[in-house]
Amino acid sequence: MDDHAPAALAAPAIADPDERPTWPALRRGLLRRCPNCGEGHLFDGYLKVTDSCASCGEVLKHHRADDGPAYLTILLVGHLLAFVMHFVWVTFRPEPLVFATVLTVFAVGLSLWLLPRFKGAIVGYQWAHRMHGFGGRD
Ligand SMILES: [Zn+2]
Repeated sequence: MDDHAPAALAAPAIADPDERPTWPALRRGLLRRCPNCGEGHLFDGYLKVTDSCASCGEVLKHHRADDGPAYLTILLVGHLLAFVMHFVWVTFRPEPLVFATVLTVFAVGLSLWLLPRFKGAIVGYQWAHRMHGFGGRD
């Protein structure tokens, strides 16, 4: 390939106005915000994705997060819990009932905190990649 090719051939001269960068959409989803503008709330409640953004009007009803957020939450919390259980048991030898109670509260609390954030990230990813109707007109 010619190293002296004009820059216009190497990269598009004008950025695509319809471009949807993945990382900003993921970050906005993690913050439970609209993946398009980052201003409007993504959820209408704890986990129900709003039909459209109240700030920019972007239609968000096309998401298909399904079991993805729960899978990611279990994957992360399960691995973290295994490490914490091993470390705490080996280091402190707590009373079993206290140990089980504290770990249960920790696991449930962390799961409830992570679940909407992972769902937001998955919706943001689907929006950025125009999956499941996000690329269509409506
Ligand atoms: Zn928006």
